[in-house]
Amino acid sequence: MSKKEQLYEGKAKKVFATEKADEVIVSYKDDATALDGLKKGTINGKGSINNRMTNFFMQMLEKQGVPTHFVEELNDRETVVKKVSIVPLEVIIRNISAGSFAKRYGVEEGIVFNDPTIEFSYKNDDLHDPLINSYHALALGLATKAEIERIKELAFKVNDLLKAYFLKLNVKLVDFKLEFGRLSDGRIVLADEISPDTCRFWDAETNEKLDKDRFRRDMGGVEDAYNEMMRRVFGD
Ligand code: UDP
Repeated sequence: MSKKEQLYEGKAKKVFATEKADEVIVSYKDDATALDGLKKGTINGKGSINNRMTNFFMQMLEKQGVPTHFVEELNDRETVVKKVSIVPLEVIIRNISAGSFAKRYGVEEGIVFNDPTIEFSYKNDDLHDPLINSYHALALGLATKAEIERIKELAFKVNDLLKAYFLKLNVKLVDFKLEFGRLSDGRIVLADEISPDTCRFWDAETNEKLDKDRFRRDMGGVEDAYNEMMRRVFGD
């Protein structure tokens, strides 16, 4: 499998065509952005960590009945995935209050919910990814009713599986963002990534942050946190 023309460059990844019409290569960058693109920087080694960690979890989830876009890891930074049309919704699941939830509702971070929550943001940079409910998503034609139901079902299943897995690594899965795509036959699959860029991870004992919040909040120790998560997942 080889890279052909670049199809897209996003904030953290590039996407290339391949010789197969239904597969693309994702290449993970070390570039990091936060605060709606206002904050820019580099996290050394992030591309490789996010690529490897994402692929590990995509394969684990696939085995447990969650369809994903994963095809094959090519090297440290590059992976072949099925070409999908991304459903323009960021799907956020929360187990513990943090980030924009805590800010929006005026509560402290760290409240453990009895049941996980789900919310959607409309993926639209010009509008700054506004919060949206499923009726609005339907009205805007972003997804069908059946697709939204399927996305919710898969997102909660991913949460159950990941939450239990991370707890064994002594990590609390606070919240995370998922993206889903449609295959050419219309089936919904999990796409994008599962990494310290897209999840909040807290050490189960100390609540130390082991994710991108260290970058967002200028806390220092950003690379150390990514490496620590890598060590817990892979033991290296
Ligand atoms: N998230 C993400 N991309 C985004 C927004 C959020 O991956 O564009 C992730 C973020 O890492 C966190 C979860 O989604 O794990 C919830 O983020 P939140 O809504 O609290 O937003 P933030 O505080 O990051 O602005």
